[in-house]
This record gives sequence, C-alpha cells and structure tokens, in this order.
Amino acid sequence: MIIDSHSHLNFQAFNQDREEVIKKCLKKDLLTINVGSNYLTSCQAVKMARKGVYASVGLHPIHVEKEEFKFKKFKELALNDYVVAVGETGFDFLRNKNVKKQKEVFFQHLKLAEELNLPLIIHCRKAHDELLEILPDKVFGVVHCFTGSLSQAKKYLEKGLFLGFTGIIFKLNLDRVIKEIPLERMLVETDCPYLGDKERNDPFFVEKVIERIDEIKRSSEVGKVTFQNAKKLFSI
Ligand SMILES: [Zn+2]
Repeated sequence: MIIDSHSHLNFQAFNQDREEVIKKCLKKDLLTINVGSNYLTSCQAVKMARKGVYASVGLHPIHVEKEEFKFKKFKELALNDYVVAVGETGFDFLRNKNVKKQKEVFFQHLKLAEELNLPLIIHCRKAHDELLEILPDKVFGVVHCFTGSLSQAKKYLEKGLFLGFTGIIFKLNLDRVIKEIPLERMLVETDCPYLGDKERNDPFFVEKVIERIDEIKRSSEVGKVTFQNAKKLFSI
C-alpha cells in the first residue's frame, strides 16, 4: 500500500475520467487524499470520498478574497467520516499579497481542525518565515509540497509537523533536506493535476517520487514508511 497524500481528483481536470482514475488507484493499492481548495471543490472531494479515497476540506490562500470562509458550512462538511484533514490553508505570497486576510482565514482553519481533532494540510509559498512566526508551538498536520530550506524544515519538525514532497523534487534540488530529515516525518504526494508541465499529473506519479526519495535516502522503505506516517497522521 502507498498513499498520495495530496491530490485533487476533485478538480475539473478529472471530470472526464474521475471514476476510472479512482478505480485504477484502488486496484494498485494506491490511496489518495483529495484536497479541497474552496467550498465547491471541498464538496466535490467529500462527494467522491470512500474507503481509500479520503477528503480534506478548506479554502486555499489564493481564494480567500473571492470567497468567505464559512466556518459552519465547512464544519458540516468536515463531519463526514471520510474527511481526514482540514485544508489546504496557509500563506501564498507568490500569488496573493493580502497577508492579513490569509492570516485571518488560516486561524479559522486552525480552530476548526482543533475542534474536530483533525490534522491541518498547510500550503506555503514564499512565506515560510512568516508562517513559522505565527504557528503555535505544536501543530498537528503537514506542510505540503515542501520547498523551503533545511533550517525551515527543522523548525517545522520541532513543532511536530510532517513535510510532504511532490514531483517538484525533480525540478528543485531538495536533496539535502530530504537526506537530513527523518523518513518518519515525511509524506509523499503529487498535488495532481498540477506540477505536470504539459501533461496532466495524476496520482500514479507518486511512485516516481517514492523511487527518487529512496535513491536520495539510500532506502527501499519510502513507500511503506510514508504510508504508515499518513495512516498515523490522518487516522486512516
Ligand atoms: Zn494542492
């Protein structure tokens, strides 16, 4: 069993063949967590959720100005049995400069996650130091698609967070971070349909991410251990 801990099979890019892709994943013992980026895609993630196809609900930092975070509505969604996390939420200073609004919405997610005892899926682009500054001492969750420095990685680990790695490790050199941090705190993911250059990325690509991390860490257990990590973090 392996798990793509951050995918978006709930997005439009999969409208034509969503069920096919899900069936193929399950047949390969590849589980997915499909992450909502606004209320609509969060609903879609919940609608398609089942055993092995889990959901997370949240409002992505790039959408916080277009859409209000309706706490009660997201809470209702999050009460579904197959919702295993809250997010994605966080900071994206590359695409949204409104720090105040992103902060406000992030704390709402944190509150929801704490109320429901669910882990947080955190998105962070060009804002690691700012995020580290406002995070509580202990946070239950994952910083997904990690691309920061080793010292930032260590600070997240100190707070109890996991770090998720995508196919971006083929584009940016994150070898040192990957080598230094314990496998027990890592997750693997695709963030599909994104990060696929021209072609659509899909959950099967997580096998390539696992292979590459195995190489960097001189291990053969990345698939197995990241699955156990996800099982623990998301209580699945
Ligand atoms: Zn995502």
